[in-house]
Amino acid sequence: MSSSQCLCGLFITTIQGSFGDVRYCHCSKCRRKTGTAFTANAKVDISQWTIEGPEEHITEFEHAPGLYNAFCSRCGSPLYARSDADPSDIRIRIGGFEGDLDVSITGHVWVSFKAIWYSIEDSIPQYRQRFDDSE
Ligand SMILES: [Zn+2]
Ligand SMILES: [Zn+2]
Repeated sequence: MSSSQCLCGLFITTIQGSFGDVRYCHCSKCRRKTGTAFTANAKVDISQWTIEGPEEHITEFEHAPGLYNAFCSRCGSPLYARSDADPSDIRIRIGGFEGDLDVSITGHVWVSFKAIWYSIEDSIPQYRQRFDDSE
């Protein structure tokens, strides 16, 4: 089990078990959402995920039809992403989680949209776009 809190502390997210398949996403949307070169995203079975905090402070933004990014309306931290087409999974960014994390990074995805100022220096496989499912 591992937990993360948003910057202001209103929300605590907890994941049971492993993060499983984690990707570094370089797409232009992830770069805009975070202001960073890429995001570290995990796809987690919704039964393994809990979020504690005041629901009225969760803002969901529909960035494409049926695809939502949720953030804390007080501090702006990302809380989760979800898809109407895939209600059994939740996507989370793993950067705020603490402790011994069971994480395996399976790829850099959307490398064709990578920030020009960032160079990938590791040996993790790179994919020009996604490799098996949607962002
Ligand atoms: Zn917050
Ligand atoms: Zn992305």
